[in-house]
Amino acid sequence: MYVISTRDAKNMIPATMAVLKGIAGDGGLYVPEYFPKLDMAEVIETANSSYSELSALILSTFFEMGRDDLNALTKAAYASFDAPETVPVKRLSGSEYVLELFHGPTLAFKDMALQVLPRLISEALEIHEQGNGVLILTATSGDTGKAALEGFKDVPRTAILVFYPASGVSPMQKLQMVTQEGSNTGVCAVEGNFDDAQTGVKQLFANAGFVAEAGRKNYELSSANSINIGRLAPQVAYYAYAYAKLVNDDVIDEGDSVNFCVPTGNFGNILAAYYACRMGVPVNKLICASNRNNILTDFFHSGNYDTNREFHKTMSPSMDILISSNLERLLFEICGRDSEAVKRLMDALAGKGAYSLPEDARRELSGLFYAGF
Ligand SMILES: *Cc1c(COP(=O)(O)O)cnc(C)c1O
Repeated sequence: MYVISTRDAKNMIPATMAVLKGIAGDGGLYVPEYFPKLDMAEVIETANSSYSELSALILSTFFEMGRDDLNALTKAAYASFDAPETVPVKRLSGSEYVLELFHGPTLAFKDMALQVLPRLISEALEIHEQGNGVLILTATSGDTGKAALEGFKDVPRTAILVFYPASGVSPMQKLQMVTQEGSNTGVCAVEGNFDDAQTGVKQLFANAGFVAEAGRKNYELSSANSINIGRLAPQVAYYAYAYAKLVNDDVIDEGDSVNFCVPTGNFGNILAAYYACRMGVPVNKLICASNRNNILTDFFHSGNYDTNREFHKTMSPSMDILISSNLERLLFEICGRDSEAVKRLMDALAGKGAYSLPEDARRELSGLFYAGF
């Protein structure tokens, strides 16, 4: 499959190449050229075999790779998870269920994608016969850093450097990161909050001198943040799995719709739910859950995105984010895939720290999304 940039639909490359690049050269994010349609009967049956096989099925709709290769890749990626089902679906009460995404090596749900991404990058380097290695630069609000370091640790032809806000992560998260093992890993504290760290990393990607210097040292730059399509695609799988599991356990009938409620920071996790929905998983509402940094709640209610507000440090630092990068991918869809419109909104965000959605895009939002904090 090919992917296109949210800021220039003519900027089109193979999905495996986008895994190596991370962000598009025009500053946009890579999105699928179209949403592949899942055969839900096949999804439901495959989910009965194993999570890793279902994950391979989903990944095969995005990446030009064989099913056998992908099956081996996902099997290895999820081998270290400490639950036999990988992602158990447990009943909470009534018709509420919890999808347990914390059974990976670092306990963060980010392991779901970050155990897969380094392996996708290795494959992509082979496919595109890239002589250079890949240097991963990643900003973290806490959990991404550790999960990415653990995923890339000692993976051949990769190196990773993680930037975290000096006073924005929990003591445990900091300890997890600064004690990281591996010959190709590094961590760096940044003065400021997560948005400062993320903005700094984005500026590095756009700095021609820095990129050239990395090239002279035989490294291409890429990102392990959820702006990388190689991180987003593996996340689609667990929504399809959760749905299939409820069907297989006779909780719902095939075709019934479900709501997914997702704690949200950079809008990656819930965007994967949106992709699952567009690919054919029956969804009634996607519920975007924020903490006191409720910029997304306001956005979904008003259509206005405004970062000119106080930043609160909370007990859930991974959700303490005012600039949710992946929202750009949703904007692209609700603006009718109009990359010029997206560019205007993103320019307003960079200039005034705010933008307002056009009226028809607003209507698109309220149909599928619900938001609270
Ligand atoms: C990363 C993270 C989030 C936010 O997920 P996004 O994909 O950035 O929206 C929320 N909670 C926890 C515990 C996390 O690690």
